[in-house]
Amino acid sequence: MIIFTHHSGESHGILGAQVAATFLHRKLSIHSIVVGIERNFSKEQLLRFIGEHYEKQEKIAAFSHLCGRADLIDLARELKEDGFTTVLGGPQARQDYSGEPDTDSFPHRFKGLNSIVDVAFQGPVDSLILEDLGGKRRLLDYPWTRDIFLEVDWSNLYTFSEGLRHVDVRLGQVLSTIGCAYACKRQTIVLPVPVNLQERGDVPELEVKSQGCIFCDVSRDKGYHGTVETEKLILQMAALPEIDGRKIPFELIDEYPIRSLGKLIEEAERHGIELSQINLVCRVDDINAHSADLEEALSLAQRRDIKVMFASIGFESFSDRLLRYLCKGITVAENVRCVETLRRMKDRFGSHLLYRRDEGANHGFIRPTPWDDGETMREMDRTIFLHRLFEDILPDHSTPLIIHHASYLGDWIRQIESTTGTTFGRVGTWIEWWNPLPQGERRMPAEGR
Ligand code: SF4
Repeated sequence: MIIFTHHSGESHGILGAQVAATFLHRKLSIHSIVVGIERNFSKEQLLRFIGEHYEKQEKIAAFSHLCGRADLIDLARELKEDGFTTVLGGPQARQDYSGEPDTDSFPHRFKGLNSIVDVAFQGPVDSLILEDLGGKRRLLDYPWTRDIFLEVDWSNLYTFSEGLRHVDVRLGQVLSTIGCAYACKRQTIVLPVPVNLQERGDVPELEVKSQGCIFCDVSRDKGYHGTVETEKLILQMAALPEIDGRKIPFELIDEYPIRSLGKLIEEAERHGIELSQINLVCRVDDINAHSADLEEALSLAQRRDIKVMFASIGFESFSDRLLRYLCKGITVAENVRCVETLRRMKDRFGSHLLYRRDEGANHGFIRPTPWDDGETMREMDRTIFLHRLFEDILPDHSTPLIIHHASYLGDWIRQIESTTGTTFGRVGTWIEWWNPLPQGERRMPAEGR
């Protein structure tokens, strides 16, 4: 069986899909691989490969980590029409299967994938049984627990562009936290009218509820379910591939990793696991609140010759107003303090601390947003200039605000639609907030979009 996912073509693993393929193979005896589809792939070659691959096996194809890609949804549809049983798992499976609310009254909205997916499952793969895969038109909802199956066969990953290519994974992932602790933070925010609709004068400010960051798909989909046991962390690190006797770099999945970083390094050493590099994807408030712990952990890492890389920090914006709208729970001053801490520590730890853009980091910077105006632009440009953020922090390209239909911002867009009659375009599972269609014009999505 193949699990299709989005993939950038680089040599990083896809933890969720690779765990699922490993589970299917080891626990359900279904030989499974993961095929990451790169953007601009050859559809003709892919369909030829799929035809050959499934010549002598049951036609079940799974999809995970769609990343909002309409071309992957089209692929699922084509396989379904060709007689495949289609399965959807991974992030947002429940929401993507079910689609947006009130599609009868608002036919331009995303109707969900239930017409092209036979079985959708939400939650960890562990609870899946063979019979589940034979079902038709069902949604299985399994609860998250701390004791989930986390074995990974790192050799089961391939990518597809013009042809199938095996991936020697050079950046793995280790799951430390299930969901995100910040997703527990409930907030209500009044969001102003998107700048491109202000001239109309009939679009109100709206109150929106959020848990965690308002744009985040993890916060609503998964919430927070605690950390995995230390023993499971060790097993995951021990199972990573090695190069020259040391484990490949891995991304630690934990938005608040600083306080436990030193312990992780010590545990690895106690179990004879030779680490090379730990990549962190973390929040600014964790770095600011625990800079002493960070310093200690970095000293330890330096003595063991382990690199620690801040691969992606969620700065997201350098305007206080925008940070508030995004419900980030941080201010510009806190973002700047975090940058200064990193620069200071870089002076001390040198090549054992990586955080700069030219060292491979790609920090969160969301722009444009629906609320950018002269004031936010001036505030951001001033902060960026004063603190020289283009030197080391800002990525080459910012990321436009993405609104997944099932995020809290999706609720906001739908409120605008229902109170004003404006409709916004839909592409894949995303809402095009920058694309309000003229009143009365309702572009119908293709089936399943
Ligand atoms: S964006 Fe990051 S910090 Fe914010 S809720 Fe999502 S996972 Fe947590």
